[in-house]
Formats: sequence, structure tokens, C-alpha cells
Amino acid sequence: MGWFDGKKGLILGVANDRSIAWAVAQEVMAQGGLCGFTHLPDRPDDEKQKNRRRVAKCLENQPNARFLVPLDVQKDEDIAQLMHKTAEEFGKIDFLLHSIAFADREDLSRATIDTSRSGFHLAMDVSVYSLLAVARAARPLLNPGASILTMTYFGGEKCVPGYNVMGICKAALDACVRYLAFDLGSQAVRVNAISAGPLKTLAGSAAGVGEMQFLYEKIAPLQRNVTHEEVGRAGAFLLSSYSDGITGEILHVDAGYNIMGTPGRWLEELKGAAKPS
Ligand code: NAP
Repeated sequence: MGWFDGKKGLILGVANDRSIAWAVAQEVMAQGGLCGFTHLPDRPDDEKQKNRRRVAKCLENQPNARFLVPLDVQKDEDIAQLMHKTAEEFGKIDFLLHSIAFADREDLSRATIDTSRSGFHLAMDVSVYSLLAVARAARPLLNPGASILTMTYFGGEKCVPGYNVMGICKAALDACVRYLAFDLGSQAVRVNAISAGPLKTLAGSAAGVGEMQFLYEKIAPLQRNVTHEEVGRAGAFLLSSYSDGITGEILHVDAGYNIMGTPGRWLEELKGAAKPS
């Protein structure tokens, strides 16, 4: 008996086997869930179809992975086609994972004050508005009790220098979770987010994960970083009926880093280093 026996849903945001979406999907499928996947569309002149192939490689030998279709969340027609395919394959669905973010590298590396107007629009469109667009398009397919989950980061709650424009996006995404939870609550659909500690992924390296992992080891109560598997299991929990009383919540899976108000145990080391010799 698995948590997801008889359940079907969508996993958006697998780029490769290091993606957080893949960690969640593996847990869902191991528990019996059937999943539809998406990949970023390849350019028509890309004969190698790199984006599709990267995701397809993950899905090899996964009998519960039922389809793979292109999706650029900036395109309403792609979202409509995804839902059409989903209705055809699954009828109704029980879970939807949105694990998507993007900002121009130049904008990520600039001070927040220097974010370009076009870069701001792009980051907000892909990383925030897409949750509303996908939830709206999926709405007619969502069974009562269905669960939507997105991935956020602490940089939306507090200033994390270097996270810059993406921090603003995550603050807006967190607000979307609460407003969507209200809108969809009348249909018995839940909406939550996981705030994950830094993990090495494609998007993570663009956002400077290496330095953050150093800080987490020093400051987090558990004195370590979280793993893909830990985030995957928490994601599966929030997508499953085991969390059926929880909505509008941001669950931190970060070894406790977010509760700290000082560098904690690291402070003694810092004070020692600061003492004149
Ligand atoms: P990832 O593997 O790079 O996943 C990001 C996904 O977003 C990729 O599959 C990417 O597709 C997709 N994407 C980007 N633009 C898109 C578009 N226009 N349409 C459709 N899909 C698009 O990195 P990840 O770390 O797992 O990121 C997943 C989520 O977790 C993001 O929201 C991220 O902010 C969040 N998060 C990450 C960390 C971390 O430390 N890694 C921590 C907290 C939260 P392509 O790669 O094919 O472009």
C-alpha cells in the first residue's frame, strides 16, 4: 500500500536528476502515484532536442511516469495543451507540483537596485505568475482533496544578499500561495509551499548555492545542509492526503536555519577569530 495508490498528477520543473522536482517525483512514484511531466520546449533547430532528452533520461524505467510534454510557462497555449493532454491521459488529477523559477543571470548578479525592468518582468512571469496561470488552467481537473505545491526560499522572507530579484519573486510567490489557498479552498483544494535549504541544482548554482551551504552548516541548528531526499519526502507529504488539514502554509525544510536570529554556535568561533592576538 503506497500513499499515492490510485492518485495521478503533474510534476512541473524537472530539468535533470538533480532537480528538486525529480526528488519529489521519485517519492510520489515510489508510493504508487502516476505522474505526467513537462520539459522546456527545444528550439526547432536543436536537432538533439536537449531539453526533452535530459528529462526523458530521468523517466527511463519509470513505469509510473505516464507522459512528457513541452511546457514554457510564459505561453498560455502551452499551458492549455498540457491540461488537454492531462485530461486525456488522467481525467481528473490529485496533485500538482510547480517547481519552476528563472531570472536572467545578469539580473541575479546585479544589486537588486539595478534590476532591469525587463529582467524583473521575466523573473516574475516565470517564477510567480506561472503558479497562478497553471493553477487556473488545472482548476477544472482538480479532484476535491487535491494538493498544489510550489518551491520557495527564505530569501523571500528576509534579505539574503546575492539572491536579489529572486528574493522579491519568492516573497510574491509566498503571497500567491496564501491567496490561491483561499480561492481554491472552496473546492477543497490545498495550496502550500516548501522553503528548501540550498541544494545543488541548475537553478541553485545560478543563485549562489555554494556559499549558502557553507553558512547553513555553520548556523543551522542541525549543523548541516538538507538533502534532496529530505525535500522530496516533505514534498510528497504535502502533495498527499497525509497533509489534508494543511493549506496556505510555507513549510521550511532547511535544517532549522530560518529560526535563527544570530549565528548561534558559530558566534564563539567568530568572536575567537576577531580577538586581537
Ligand atoms: P532546476 O532543476 O534548474 O529546476 C528549475 C526548473 O524550472 C527547470 O526544470 C527549468 O527548466 C524550469 N523552467 C525555467 N523556466 C521555465 C519556463 N519558462 N517554463 C517552464 N519551465 C521553466 O532547479 P531547482 O533548484 O530544482 O529549482 C526548482 C524550484 O526550487 C525553483 O522554484 C527554485 O527557486 C526552488 N528552490 C531551489 C532551491 C535550491 O537551493 N536549489 C532552494 C529553494 C527553492 P530548464 O532547466 O529546462 O530551463
